[in-house]
Amino acid sequence: MPWKCGIDGCGAVFEDVEATVVHQATEHERRECKVCGTVVPDGYLAIRHAFTEHSRAEYVRAYGASSEAVREREELLEEIESVADMQAIATELKR
Ligand SMILES: [Zn+2]
Ligand SMILES: [Zn+2]
Repeated sequence: MPWKCGIDGCGAVFEDVEATVVHQATEHERRECKVCGTVVPDGYLAIRHAFTEHSRAEYVRAYGASSEAVREREELLEEIESVADMQAIATELKR
């Protein structure tokens, strides 16, 4: 199943999740985390930052997210983490 970049109607399609995450981190503007102000790559890495560095309550407060939006992101994180080679992504992003 191909992976699609979901940032702002980008819609770029990739064969694997690693390529998708690298695309999001290199082709899209970085964004500021609304909770702590850290600038992080958009897309998966932004979601990962928000959900690993901050509590659900902080996320909901800062982003005005619904519980459904939170659940969707949690599911996405789990799905990506189960298939992605994070080491390969980190290596690719260091170039
Ligand atoms: Zn994109
Ligand atoms: Zn943050």
